Amino acid sequence: MTTMRTTLLAPFLLAALAACSSTEGTDPEPTATDAAATTDMTDAAQPNDPAAATSGMEKVEKTDAEWRAQLSPEEYRVAREGGTERAFTGRYWDTKTAGTYHCIGCDLPLFRSDTKFDSGCGWPSFFEPLEGANLVELRDTSHGMIRTEIRCARCDAHLGHVFTDGPPPTGLRYCINSVSLNLEADGQ
Ligand SMILES: [Zn+2]
Repeated sequence: MTTMRTTLLAPFLLAALAACSSTEGTDPEPTATDAAATTDMTDAAQPNDPAAATSGMEKVEKTDAEWRAQLSPEEYRVAREGGTERAFTGRYWDTKTAGTYHCIGCDLPLFRSDTKFDSGCGWPSFFEPLEGANLVELRDTSHGMIRTEIRCARCDAHLGHVFTDGPPPTGLRYCINSVSLNLEADGQ
């Protein structure tokens, strides 16, 4: 519908501008008319842009009962209720295995082992996500702190937080709960 309206509108605008130009044929500054025409055409095409921007990944949505059936109680507590595993207790905080870390909820690949570093904080830490579009950032003001929560963009699983005290090249520290991740080792 938007395309049709734009298509129908454009000739009208051109005709109106052409008529305007013909009545002002002696205009000493024809470039001003050209600039106006360019602006009008751009405005007319804009309604198409938001539709293109929202064509992102398909969401994975499940009922609470389905999540409880799929996840262990600890996975559910962290990924679905925004909990945090105790430091130095998770399965990946000290893991050096080469591979890709996937979302525990929907298996979306989130981090690569070659961006993992030893932050000393007791949780697996990465300086960069595999794809920025796979993560969603939310402002978290709980526990008297202002932090940036990280969630999976596909299933909304709580993953952890991102801080600005990481190493080069990004200076970021994605501090992630092991229990929100599933490591698929390379070559398997
Ligand atoms: Zn997910």
